[in-house]
Amino acid sequence: MAEGKFALVVNCMDGRVQAPVREYLCERFNVDYVDVITEAGPCKSISDNKDTEWLKALRAKIEFLAEKHGSKDMAIVGHFDCGANASLKDAQHEQILASVKVVESWGLGLSVIGLWVGDDWQATEVLG
Ligand SMILES: [Zn+2]
Repeated sequence: MAEGKFALVVNCMDGRVQAPVREYLCERFNVDYVDVITEAGPCKSISDNKDTEWLKALRAKIEFLAEKHGSKDMAIVGHFDCGANASLKDAQHEQILASVKVVESWGLGLSVIGLWVGDDWQATEVLG
């Protein structure tokens, strides 16, 4: 097992959201490190929940990180002005919540939350 406490996040690849998400999750989960899987607008693709190679690969990455670093908590992120997801805030909030349900349904033993990074570039939790 690695030294320190880890959480993990499925974040967008957009550079503007990396720091606020890491800072939020370190505080929220009281962890030393946040492992990051970056994808293009992931909350849209995960919420589609199609049986794709992409989704299988994503699940494998989550399982790998959770096992490797003993993470118990993870987050899925959507954000303002996403180049890969033109959906507006309310629609993205629905996608984020649906994505949380998809990952929870995999039964990986991870607690999953949704995060939104708004036009102020601050991370806030999306509550169902
Ligand atoms: Zn994005």
